[in-house]
Amino acid sequence: MADFDFDLFVIGAGSGGVRAARIAAGHGAKVAIAEEFRYGGTCVVRGCIPKKLMVYASRFRDEFEDAEGFGWSLRKPSFDWPTLIANKDKEIERISGVYKSNLERSGVQSGVACAFAVGATVAITTIEYEPGAVADLQALLDRLIAPEGDYRHNVLNHDTNAHSHLRAALIGPSETIPVVGGELGLGTWQQLVLLDFDDRPRERIVSVQVLS
Ligand SMILES: Cc1cc2nc3c(=O)[nH]c(=O)nc-3n(C[C@H](O)[C@H](O)[C@H](O)COP(=O)(O)OP(=O)(O)OC[C@H]3O[C@@H](n4cnc5c(N)ncnc54)[C@H](O)[C@@H]3O)c2cc1C
Repeated sequence: MADFDFDLFVIGAGSGGVRAARIAAGHGAKVAIAEEFRYGGTCVVRGCIPKKLMVYASRFRDEFEDAEGFGWSLRKPSFDWPTLIANKDKEIERISGVYKSNLERSGVQSGVACAFAVGATVAITTIEYEPGAVADLQALLDRLIAPEGDYRHNVLNHDTNAHSHLRAALIGPSETIPVVGGELGLGTWQQLVLLDFDDRPRERIVSVQVLS
């Protein structure tokens, strides 16, 4: 029988993924969960929670006005938008943390690493890093986005590297990789590689964040 590191690998720590992971872990399954952004998913980070907080905040004005009719006297209420946004963000952070600690308590082994290349003409991808595959990728990019061409970026900015920008945009600046047992969960023949497309030497910064 095949030997697997995990019984269940969940992609996405939103409401559905967290629930599935916790229930499975509660039944004794060895579970890992990968999340590319923040624990809690759409509901906590963008949907139910932020929406409710904003709706609650919007109602106070009417309540203050009505209160006077019920005998309450108040100083003229004032509203501060930055305070609302800061407190909303704090609450989302708190609930996201609750999701994370609940997952950890349930025994789910979680971790994800994100590598991000800073710059508009650089990209990160995975490939089998051997001369053949590297040459094939280079040839593919040459066919798709030739170095020479009638590029608006070059014309408008008196530049020569429009193709570098386009290649970087196509491949993308980051990769998110699960962390398994303290190591990147990459395939045997899969390496994380930086692609510097610029047509002049550049110093590059790669930011790596690991969430566990
Ligand atoms: C504005 C808004 C308001 C809402 N209000 C309510 C409400 O009041 N009540 C209610 O019941 N429902 C509400 N919903 C719906 C609710 O948010 C969703 O039903 C719920 O979040 C779905 O959960 P999920 O786990 O299926 O997906 P999600 O919560 O979307 O979770 C998916 C997760 O997967 C991650 N992910 C995606 N791809 C990858 C990848 N390749 N690698 C790693 N991670 C990945 C994402 O970052 C995300 O965290 C609202 C939704 C919106 C948009």
